[in-house]
Amino acid sequence: VAVRVCAGTGCLAGGSERVFKALVEEASRVGFRGSLDFEAKCSGCHGFCEEGPIVVCRIQGREVFYRKVRPEDAGDILASLREGVVLERLLYREGRQAFESEEEIPFYAGQTRKVLARCGKVDPKSLDDYIAAGGYSALVKALGMEPQTIIDMVDRAGLRGRGGGGFPAGRKWASCRAASGKHKFVLANGDEGDPGAFMDRSLMEGDPHAVLEGMIIGAYAVGASKGFIYVRDEYPLAVENLSFAIKNAREAGLLGRRILGTSFSFDMDICRGGGAFVCGESSALMASIEGRTGEPRVKYIRSTEKGLWNCPTVLNNVETWANVPIIINEGPDVYRALGTQGSPGTKVFSLVGKVKRTGLVEVPMGTSLREIIFNIGGGMRGKGRFKAVQTGGPSGGCLPEDKLDLPVDFDRLTEEGSMMGSGGMIVMDHRTCMVDVARYFVSFLEMESCGKCVPCREGLRAMREILEDLCSGKGRAGDMDLLVSMGEALSDTALCGLGQTAANPVLSTVRYFRDEYLEHEIKGF
Ligand code: SF4
Repeated sequence: VAVRVCAGTGCLAGGSERVFKALVEEASRVGFRGSLDFEAKCSGCHGFCEEGPIVVCRIQGREVFYRKVRPEDAGDILASLREGVVLERLLYREGRQAFESEEEIPFYAGQTRKVLARCGKVDPKSLDDYIAAGGYSALVKALGMEPQTIIDMVDRAGLRGRGGGGFPAGRKWASCRAASGKHKFVLANGDEGDPGAFMDRSLMEGDPHAVLEGMIIGAYAVGASKGFIYVRDEYPLAVENLSFAIKNAREAGLLGRRILGTSFSFDMDICRGGGAFVCGESSALMASIEGRTGEPRVKYIRSTEKGLWNCPTVLNNVETWANVPIIINEGPDVYRALGTQGSPGTKVFSLVGKVKRTGLVEVPMGTSLREIIFNIGGGMRGKGRFKAVQTGGPSGGCLPEDKLDLPVDFDRLTEEGSMMGSGGMIVMDHRTCMVDVARYFVSFLEMESCGKCVPCREGLRAMREILEDLCSGKGRAGDMDLLVSMGEALSDTALCGLGQTAANPVLSTVRYFRDEYLEHEIKGF
C-alpha cells in the first residue's frame, strides 16, 4: 500500500500536512503494520493546486488521484485501501464523469511532462527516490564525457534559456568555457517574481535534485568550481528543499571534492533574495550575491567573461538547468523531436486567471494558445467570454482572440508584441478592462524599478499617472498617443531589461485594444 500526499505550497496551504498526519495516525490505529503494509510519503507539487490537497493512493496496482482531501477522510481512505476499492467521492470530476488516474484527467492528458515528470511523484527530500526515478544517471554519463562534448550536445539540442531571454544555452556555456579565469561560477536564477507565475517554485520545491544535477553537469562542462542558486525570499519551502538536497548530495559524494571519484570538484550554496523583482535581472542578481545593492549595470562586458566577482559565469534559470539531464539522457536529437525548429523542447507555463482549470502546464514549444487555454485549461470560467491572454509576466503583452492559434514559442510571441518570459499566462474575460490591466502592470513595474536610470524611474511614474487618469475618468484626448511615444522612448533608452520591456503591456494593449483607450479618452474629455 502506498499513499503520496502532496506537500507543495498550494496543498500545504489547503491543509495537506494535517491530512498526512491523519493518515499516519489512522493507519496506526487500525493496525497497518509499518512500511511493509503501509507507506505514506510526501511529494512535491502536482501543479493542480486548486484541486488540493491532493493524495495519490496505489490501489490494486493503479495510482488513484484523490482531490480536495480533508483530514476527516483518512478513515475512509484507509478502509478503501484495505478493501482495494476506489473512493468515488474523492475522484476528480468533470461534469458527471469521474477520473481515477492523473493521466486520465483532461488537465494532465493534454500535457507532455518532461521537466515536471517527477514533480508530485518523488519525495523531494529523498535522494533515494530521485535516484530510483533515474536521477543522477545523466551526471554519471556526463562525467564520462569530454566537457566540450556536453556543450556540443546542449548546443545541438537547441536549448534556449527558459527564464525569458531565450538565449541559446550552448553558446553561453561555450563562451564561459573559452573564457580565461582561475575561478568560474554557475548560477541558477530562482528569483521568480512575475505575478501569477510559480513554475520555478514548484520545480525547486518538488524536484530540487533535477536543478542540482543540471548545474553539476553544467559546471563540469564549463569548468566551474562553485555554484549558487538564487532563490526569492518568498519561497521558504523551495529554500528548505534545496538546502536538504544540497546536504544529501554532499553526503553522497555528488557535490564537493572529487565528485563520484573523478578529478572534478564542485560545490554550491543557496543565496536568498531580498524580495526585489529587479534582482531577477542578471547583473542585479550577481550584485546581490556579491553582497552589493541589487541594481543592474551596463552590460558592455558579457557575464560569461566577467560575471560574478568578475569571473566567468554562466547564469541560467532553474527550468533551463532541469532540462540539461534530459538532454544528456535522451540525446539532442530526441530532445529536438519535441517543440519547434527555433525553440526545441517543452515549456512549463503557469496558467491562471479566468480559466476553468488553473495550474502548471507543460507542453511542447509551438503548442497553440487555444490548446493550452481551451483544451488543457478547459476554457473560460463561468459565463465569461475570452478576451485576452497576457503572456510573459509584467513585461509581456496581451494577445486578443484572433491570436489564439498562435504557436507559443520564443520568436512568435515576440513578433506579436508579447514575449515568452518565464512562462506566466493570465487569461482574461470580456469583463476585463485592458487599460486597467496596463495600469496594473505599469504600477507593478514602477514599484519594482530600482530607480537607477531616468527613463525608467520617471517614465514609468508618468505613464502610471496617465493610466490612472484614464481609468478614473480623467483622461485627455491624445493620452494614448502620449503613452505610446513614452513607451517607445522607454524601450529605447532604459538601462536594463526591466525598463526596456516595461512598456510592453501598454504597447500591446494599444495595438490590440485601441478602441478601449479611445473610449477612456472620450469619457474623460
Ligand atoms: Fe533600474 Fe529601471 Fe534602469 Fe533597470 S531600467 S536599471 S530597473 S531604473
